[in-house]
Amino acid sequence: MSVINRIPAVETSGPADSETLNRIPSVEPHDSTGVIGRIHSVETCGTVDGPGIRFIVFMQGCLMRCKYCHNRDTWDTHGGREVTVPELMQDLTSYRHFMNASGGGVTASGGEAMLQQDFIAELFAACKAQGIHTCLDTNGFVRHYDELLDRVLDNTDLVLLDIKQINDEKHIPLTHVSNKYTLEFARYLAARGQTMWIRYVVVPSWSDDEESAEGLGQFIAELGDCVEKVELLPYHELGKHKWDVLGDHYDLTGIRPPSKETMDRVQAILGKYHPNVKY
Ligand code: SF4
Repeated sequence: MSVINRIPAVETSGPADSETLNRIPSVEPHDSTGVIGRIHSVETCGTVDGPGIRFIVFMQGCLMRCKYCHNRDTWDTHGGREVTVPELMQDLTSYRHFMNASGGGVTASGGEAMLQQDFIAELFAACKAQGIHTCLDTNGFVRHYDELLDRVLDNTDLVLLDIKQINDEKHIPLTHVSNKYTLEFARYLAARGQTMWIRYVVVPSWSDDEESAEGLGQFIAELGDCVEKVELLPYHELGKHKWDVLGDHYDLTGIRPPSKETMDRVQAILGKYHPNVKY
């Protein structure tokens, strides 16, 4: 079995170095047995990451360091377990009936799925060959524009693009990386006419202010009709225990989930720029 997607050593104890890291480089296959991906877990009947009932593949590894990350245990690029596309296809196709009946499909999430593009390209191609809807849930931290990226996107029906903060002065302390790559990727998707949902986590005192919502709305409007929906996700503390288990300090301790009034206010601002803003 060849390993063309083995994840190399990356320092994961501290913030990712956005200037030196990007996609985890793949290794050329030694034979034709296919790509190996490193996954954290799967969820067989997900209902919140794309339309319908979905088989969610949580890929291992992420280079952002979001303060509110509820999947803190996905960061380590050495963690998770190795799977091949045929193994995963055998598993997910047993749920095909539920996926098809509900208008669902497969979602690659994480961690960050775009760190393992060769695996996602093969997985999504296999899904499309079987008529299964594909959805890519990504933070958009993409710095290489090449054939591999286009191969992933050619086999992607829907992109869920997280924009953490439109204001880079707030984005950097919130995620430890600049938003410029995510915004560039959003423009690239728009230029391709790729259908996308923009997702925005509303975090009190970090992303719930009027200026941020206005700026995000203006940016989304520039992307045009390919943005089908804007999803607002209220911040929650449900992943905090994972930080505790790993002995990490959780910076947002004490910050409560946003109130309904806050969510309504952000929704109303974004609603000036897009007709379909939901939470
Ligand atoms: S991009 Fe997602 S997985 Fe990565 S740190 Fe942020 S919230 Fe966590």
